Amino acid sequence: MYGKFENKYLTADNKDRAFVEANKLKTLWFNTGTLCNLTCKNCYIESSPKNDRLSYLSFEEFKKFVNESIQNEMGTIEIGFTGGEPFMNKDIFKMIKYSLDNGFKTLVLTNAMKPMMNNNKELFKLNHLNLTIRVSIDHYSKSKHEEVRGPLSWEPMIEGLKWLSDNKFNFALATRLMWNEDEKVTRKNFKNFIENYQLNLDAFSKSDLVTFAEMDEKKDTAEITTECWGILNKSPNEIMCSSSRMIVKKKGDKTPSVIACTLLPYSDEFTLGLNLKESMKKIYLNHPHCSKFCVLGGSSCS
Ligand code: SF4
Ligand code: SF4
Repeated sequence: MYGKFENKYLTADNKDRAFVEANKLKTLWFNTGTLCNLTCKNCYIESSPKNDRLSYLSFEEFKKFVNESIQNEMGTIEIGFTGGEPFMNKDIFKMIKYSLDNGFKTLVLTNAMKPMMNNNKELFKLNHLNLTIRVSIDHYSKSKHEEVRGPLSWEPMIEGLKWLSDNKFNFALATRLMWNEDEKVTRKNFKNFIENYQLNLDAFSKSDLVTFAEMDEKKDTAEITTECWGILNKSPNEIMCSSSRMIVKKKGDKTPSVIACTLLPYSDEFTLGLNLKESMKKIYLNHPHCSKFCVLGGSSCS
């Protein structure tokens, strides 16, 4: 007998665990390193100014995976950068440029604070239709945002947002649904926020304001069996790991490795190898995040 999430192939009640087949690699994520200027509560990757469990990725390491995707015609449309804070990586502008020069839609997740603004001249030069900067904001009020992100985290973010808007970047907001508020109400309140700061965004557009279900690590969750797809009327092809992978460089490793998705950067079971081709294999949903966040919560990072 096994407990929950202990056996890769079977659930605790001895049913076949659900899996996701790899299709085309539509989105290739890069974790640029876990170091961050903030220490937010509930940061899913536990970033902070001290957490370097994922090292900074270099431009050459990044380029190798992009080239592999191009050479093997893996169907990649989009390249995403996440962290930590991606603008703390000294090679980030070279990486963004390479991604844009090769025709990829390019998405950078950032807190839009000093690391971005300190180098905004470099970023300005890269403004492009294919580039989107997505800024995390945990609430439309300063007090609740700072409750999660720490004191003095509001004004620098507002400054970054205004700069992106005034300089006509494609940009978006990402927020967590964690305040017991209906999503419609949240969007209405963000509409006021957007008007107040004169940002060029539509609070009712799902791409301008991306919302994420909150992940409570401690809360129990059901295991997903192969029967669940039919019961939930969901397809495994809707799940992030059917069409994306993330590159990380674990501290102490000589080379980066490929991870199933952005949500499980530290898990050995979800580490799939050293190149993209070998990583495109079946993923068994043997983690609470698979159930809570992807199948039952219905959110995705891209
Ligand atoms: S800014 Fe993002 S990466 Fe940094 S600690 Fe906050 S949630 Fe984590
Ligand atoms: S958490 Fe990752 S591996 Fe699990 S279902 Fe979601 S995308 Fe796939």
